[in-house]
This record gives sequence, C-alpha cells and structure tokens, in this order.
Amino acid sequence: MIKGWHKLSLIDYPGCICTTIFLGGCNFRCFYCHNRDIAFNPERFSDVNVAKVFNYLEKRNDCVEGVCISGGEPTIHAELIDLMERLKSMGFKIKLDTNGSRPKVLKEVINKKIVDYVAMDIKAPRDKYEQVSGIGKPDLNLDALQESIDVIKNSGVEYEFRTTVVPKVLKMKDIINIASWIKGSKKYVLQACRGDYGFVSMKDLRRYADVVAPYFNTVEVRG
Ligand code: SF4
Repeated sequence: MIKGWHKLSLIDYPGCICTTIFLGGCNFRCFYCHNRDIAFNPERFSDVNVAKVFNYLEKRNDCVEGVCISGGEPTIHAELIDLMERLKSMGFKIKLDTNGSRPKVLKEVINKKIVDYVAMDIKAPRDKYEQVSGIGKPDLNLDALQESIDVIKNSGVEYEFRTTVVPKVLKMKDIINIASWIKGSKKYVLQACRGDYGFVSMKDLRRYADVVAPYFNTVEVRG
C-alpha cells in the first residue's frame, strides 16, 4: 500500500517536522497529477516495508513530530484506518491529504480522533471538476465532495482547502467561483502547478489570493 516515503519533510505538514508516506492508487485522473506513477500504476512499484517505516519512527520520535499521509488518494485503502490508529498510538500528529471523494472515511478518522490536520484539494469550480479530475459521473460525485467540505469545516481539526492553479484551465473567475463555494473556511491555499502544464507566477498567485482573501480567515500561496 505504501509506495513512496520521504523520511523527513519540513514542508508537507505546516508547522510540523514530519515523515511523509505516499499510498499508491487514486480514483481521480487529474491530467497534471504530480505523482502520476504511483497514482495511476501503483502495481509497478514494490511496497515500502511498513516495518521499516515504524522502526524509523520509533528511533526518530524525538525529531519527527508528525506523519503526512499522502498519495495517490489515501482514503481508497481499507487499511488506512489501522495505519492511522497505530501511528496515533505512537504519539504522532497526523496530516491526511485527500481529494475529498470519500467523506465516510473522513468522518471515521475525525470521529476516532486519529487525524490532526486535513488538506483537501478543491480541484476546480463545480462546472470544471470533470475536466480537471479526469473522471466523469457516476465516479465523480460532487455531492460527496460537498459532504467532505462540510465534514472538514465542522470537524474542529486543523484543515486547509487547496487548489493547484493550472493556468490552462483555471482563470481568475474560476478561482473566485471556488472561493464562493467554500467561503467561510479557515484556510485556503493556492499552489502553483508544476511541470509541463503551464506556468503561473507567484505574482499572479498573490493577485488571485488578494482577490479571494475576503472569503477566508487565511489565504496562502505556495510555489
Ligand atoms: S487526486 Fe491527486 S493523486 Fe489523484 S490524480 Fe489527482 S493529483 Fe493525482
């Protein structure tokens, strides 16, 4: 299930030194996917030895404060809950990265108090979700995304909603549409698209951030 591992990260979990694990497979097909190999073809990669991860965490417990669970899409794995329970029992703070397609899993980890930070992607405004996520109905379920948004906002755990600004597809009006959709959220992050799918400058990201700032407590940009 674990297909990638960054032993130490200062950037994956805001305010927390963490180790990051990447769970293979995803139910979306975003054309700009930053982790497409493990997301689309996880069977081509051997599993990271879970015992090695836990062994590392036991030894580095004084330095590593948290674990970022990313992907792929972690919530498609039935084993996720056990993994998070085990990490939590070791005293780590846990951040979960998700595309928000599985609100039931989010509810479960929140109710069990085994997650401390949720980062949910908001890929696009509703009318462009199919285009950006690469999947159509019935696999793309906007009601489920809405449920995840509501669950996260009302959870009491730290969270962020974040959008990768793909300049080919997302324009200022789309960012405003997203902001209207999730307005009142604590934190919204605009992040630059990497790779071959266009370039958005930090200056443009900041311009977008300034426009949507009134919708949120905090808006951040990430390069
Ligand atoms: S949801 Fe994330 S991991 Fe899945 S295809 Fe999109 S960018 Fe890749």
